[in-house]
Amino acid sequence: MGKKNLDWANLPFGYIKTDRRFVANYKDGAWDSGKLIKDDKVKISECACVLQYAQTCFEGLKAYTTKDGRIVTFRPDLNAERMESSCKRLEMPVFPKERFVKAVIDTIKANINWVPPFGSGATLYVRPYMFGSNAVIGVKPADEYQFRILVTPVGPYFKGGVKPITVRISDIDRAAPHGTGDIKAGLNYAMSLYNIVDAHKNGFAENMYTDPATHTYIEETGGANILFVTKDGKLVTPKSGSILPSITRRSLVQVAKDYLHIEVEERQINKNELSDFVECGLCGTAAVISPIGKINDHGKEILLPSGMEEMGPVLSKLRETLTGIQMGEIEAPEGWIYEIK
Ligand SMILES: *Cc1c(COP(=O)(O)O)cnc(C)c1O
Repeated sequence: MGKKNLDWANLPFGYIKTDRRFVANYKDGAWDSGKLIKDDKVKISECACVLQYAQTCFEGLKAYTTKDGRIVTFRPDLNAERMESSCKRLEMPVFPKERFVKAVIDTIKANINWVPPFGSGATLYVRPYMFGSNAVIGVKPADEYQFRILVTPVGPYFKGGVKPITVRISDIDRAAPHGTGDIKAGLNYAMSLYNIVDAHKNGFAENMYTDPATHTYIEETGGANILFVTKDGKLVTPKSGSILPSITRRSLVQVAKDYLHIEVEERQINKNELSDFVECGLCGTAAVISPIGKINDHGKEILLPSGMEEMGPVLSKLRETLTGIQMGEIEAPEGWIYEIK
C-alpha cells in the first residue's frame, strides 16, 4: 500500500484507471444501495437510451491534499444539487444529495493512494455521471439507470506557468434559447466537438459563445464560465439562462465580495463592451481561472491590457485566494471543504 508511484507534476489531463469506482443501479423505481467495485467496464444493452438518445449527464470536482496533509474535496453538495437539476431536465431519477456526497467521499477514500501530494499541482479529478441503461427504441426516458463515480489523477492545468490564451467569438451555438445550456448534459459537449476542433485548427484555444437568440451578449466557452475586470476594478460576469452555473464562478464571486471587497456585477455583457475590460479569464474546476489575453471577433482583435504574458492582477489575486482556501492555507467559508477521513 502507500501512494502510487507516479510522476505527479507531469501527469497529463487524461484518464488513468484507478482501483475502485462507485456504482448504483436504478430499477423498478428505486436506487439500490450501491457499491465500490474493481471492474472498470460498463455492460449495458446495445439499445440503451444513453447510446441511442444521449440520456446522460455528469459532474466534475476534485480532491487534493492540503498543506497540512489532509485530503479534502470542495463543495460536493453543489455538484449534487446541480446534478439534480440536470437529471430533472433529462427525465432521469435524482440520486439523493446526501447519498451523492457520501458516495463521492467513499470513492475518494477507496482510491486514497491516487490523491496527488500537496505542492505537485496535480489533483484527483472526480467524475460522477448517470445514464439511461436499458433498451428503448421509441423516444422515451429509460426505466433503468446507472449512477457511477470514477476518479482519475490529473496533472497541473498549467505546466510551466500560467499562459494567457486567445479565443474566438463563435458563429456556432452551444446552447439553444430555453434549451439545455444550463445543465451538465453530455449532449452539450457532443455538439461542441466540431467547433472546438475547428477553433484549434484555426489557432484558437477556445470558442467564446454569445447568446443563442441574438448573438449579442457574451455567455461562456464550451466548458468554462467567463469573468471580466473593469478599469475601476469591478468583477463582471455574464448573466443568462443558457449558461452552466459554474461552482468555481459562484465561489469566486463570493471570494471577491467577502475576502477581497471587490464589487461584483452579474449582468448581460454586450460584445461591443469587450474592449472596455482590462482583464478576462475563464473559470471552472479544471484550471480555477485561466487568463484570456486576446479575443478574436471575426477578424477584429481585442487585446486585453493584461497582455499575453501573465494573468492580470485582479484575477491573479482571486485565483490565489480561492486556491489558498481550497488548499487549506486560507480559512474557508463554513461548509466549503469536506475532509476525507
Ligand atoms: C462544468 C462546466 C463549467 C464549470 O463549472 P465548475 O463547476 O466551475 O467546474 C462551465 N461551463 C460549462 C459549460 C461546464 O460544463
